[in-house]
Amino acid sequence: MKRACVIGWPVEHSRSPVIHRYWLKLYGLEGAYEKEAVRPEELQGFLRSLGDRSYVGANVTLPLKEAALASAESADQAAEAIGAANTLWLDAAGTLHASNTDAYGFMTHLTQEAPDWNKGERPVVVLGAGGAARAIVYALVEGGASKIMIVNRTGERAQALAKSFGARVVAFAWEDRNAALSGCGLLVNATSLGMTGKPALDLDLAALPADAIVADIVYSPLATPLLAAARAKGNPTVDGLGMLLHQAVPGFARWFGIRPEVTPELRAHVAASLAEQ
Ligand code: NAP
Repeated sequence: MKRACVIGWPVEHSRSPVIHRYWLKLYGLEGAYEKEAVRPEELQGFLRSLGDRSYVGANVTLPLKEAALASAESADQAAEAIGAANTLWLDAAGTLHASNTDAYGFMTHLTQEAPDWNKGERPVVVLGAGGAARAIVYALVEGGASKIMIVNRTGERAQALAKSFGARVVAFAWEDRNAALSGCGLLVNATSLGMTGKPALDLDLAALPADAIVADIVYSPLATPLLAAARAKGNPTVDGLGMLLHQAVPGFARWFGIRPEVTPELRAHVAASLAEQ
């Protein structure tokens, strides 16, 4: 029986088991997906013994994503560019491979929900410069965005992120976030603001063009205050759950040999689990 797991510290909050167990059952596979609480100082040892623990691979969540990349023997372009891994697998020779599927998950959902997101090649505003923002900026650069404006509370983090992705990516001060929305075609919240238990996102959408798409990668709650405000204004919106579901696809395919589908039924199943949380 093939086994995979999600590793993190803490790991209890992870929704990955809900997604992967749903697919294992749906496709009638003899597999298992576990949660493993791994302290940062235990990560290297845990990954070295992944095969001995009868795992074929793992998802990685906070705060282990950067260290997981460093521990892997090979990494794909996305993981290298983002500087973090969220998906690991062992090949037949026992070599540990790393990928980052957050960019894939974000862009797959965005293009499904808003295929015209880059129409007119207007600037994209990304709020945040943490790990998720790095994945999103990578996805947007690869996806052909002409200009990406990163707005982050800590200016140095925004500047560092802009620097690592070239001239199309520019850093802006957090105080300028409302003005930055003028003329943009897509706004992405990649901060943790608006998440259950975190402060609200203080953002005035007055300057946002009426047809600009508003995406929030926060998925708990599913209808964030930002998405509610955008909908009230009539702007098209894209929520964070689709990214979470799509980023899980490549890992499942590697570990269990079937490329699973993201369906409305899966979405409803995971949304119900989030509502229970
Ligand atoms: P992270 O690395 O800790 O980054 C947090 C970001 O939020 C930073 O830019 C931080 O700014 C900003 N921030 C936090 N508190 C703030 C405040 N009070 N005022 C202004 N900015 C603040 O976290 P992450 O991994 O990037 O995750 C960010 C969010 O994305 C989380 O809510 C996470 O659940 C969500 N996420 C969703 C998916 C998905 O699949 N939908 C995937 C990954 C993450 P500073 O740099 O100034 O600290």
